[in-house]
Amino acid sequence: MTESLYWNPVLESLSRADLKKLQLAKFKRQLHRMYEQSAFYREKLDQAGVHPDQIQTLADIRRIPVTTKEELQQLQSNSENFPYGPCLAVPTDRVATYHQTSGTTGKPIRQADSREDWEWWIECWATFLWAQGFRPNDRVFIPFSYGVFVAFWAGHYACEKIGCEVVAGGGLSTQDRLLKLQELEATAVLCTPTYGLHMAEVAEDMGLKLADFNVNKMVCAGEPGASIPATKNRLENYWGAKVFDHAGATEGGAWGFGCLKEPSDLHINEAFFLVEILDPDTGEPVDSGEEGELIITPLDRQAQPYLRFTLKDMALFSDEPCECGRTFARLKGGVLGRRDDLTKVRGVLFSPTSVEAVVRAVDQLGDEFQVVVEKKGVLDEITLKAELKENIQITPELETHLLQELRLTSGLRFNLELVPLGTLPRFEVKAKRFQDLRTHA
Ligand SMILES: [Zn+2]
Repeated sequence: MTESLYWNPVLESLSRADLKKLQLAKFKRQLHRMYEQSAFYREKLDQAGVHPDQIQTLADIRRIPVTTKEELQQLQSNSENFPYGPCLAVPTDRVATYHQTSGTTGKPIRQADSREDWEWWIECWATFLWAQGFRPNDRVFIPFSYGVFVAFWAGHYACEKIGCEVVAGGGLSTQDRLLKLQELEATAVLCTPTYGLHMAEVAEDMGLKLADFNVNKMVCAGEPGASIPATKNRLENYWGAKVFDHAGATEGGAWGFGCLKEPSDLHINEAFFLVEILDPDTGEPVDSGEEGELIITPLDRQAQPYLRFTLKDMALFSDEPCECGRTFARLKGGVLGRRDDLTKVRGVLFSPTSVEAVVRAVDQLGDEFQVVVEKKGVLDEITLKAELKENIQITPELETHLLQELRLTSGLRFNLELVPLGTLPRFEVKAKRFQDLRTHA
């Protein structure tokens, strides 16, 4: 471990005890601010019979009810502080940027950030980009139009803050992006895992070999793919680069990152976030080595703050020291899956993301797939549609292997449709690979 690997050596190597003291002090300050300045949070705390002065320990925090996405969706239909609703904790003239969630699980949440919040976003991203080896001599290519989504804007400015040179690759076709990437000899890429795979596919069509490009690191945000080992392996092989996952949410902020020493785990940025990892049944914190649900409170966010927001993500908590020297706790193997995504198929609890690990581990299959659940008579039918790579023929062995793997992972008997490469839809930002047609029957 060398000193130069640190962005902020003071905050990132505090003892666990000092880190907890810092979190408690920041939490109290934040709770007072929310109580005094946001009508929504004041009412929430009053209803729970909790006053900010009563919070003396980290354990006291669990007396405060959690905040859900559904509550915020409801709240933002309120005309107060249009278009954000009474969760806003600054006057509307302090709002400097608008973003929104992708709305994959219902109505998008509108997100207000002040100028100070924007600095905070950039600082959070810069912390982990530095931990992943981004340095001033990097030229970073971001192959997107970022639009109303916050992640890549924050990533863009964080790269600038570190001193990297940033190329905004929006407004180009995938082919042109690849040529630009090659021409400029970019050393790093920020993108969604889905688009990273798509670029590799297009490069192959163009007769280009991404592994021969100069890109040596890639940060994937927006989707959980880079923490699924089979997907990460594919990306690393195509790109000949180290691939890091990034954990963040428009509502929570950029809270988790893989480091150079343990790139498959996620460090929680505990200097800026209180992330509770709770047993979903008891609501109590899990011990190191146990799995729990993530509840997040950004400790410094001002315009539209969040109080114990449920991310609906599950993760395996570890407070063992990391070789990189950071004392921030880790989630072993990254985020393990969203509780949101779980649905019942034929009475069995099914996670659509589990299929991704199966598909990406089979060499004969391309990168895109779809899972469709529909009702045939009284029974649920589940079908995997996947693409065969070029010059690969369907064989009974391949079909049997896939069906067995799917059965092992999900406990379900799948139907299989193997289609030619390029048949299924392609995505740039958020892939929609799961279709539940039962609700529209
Ligand atoms: Zn580390």
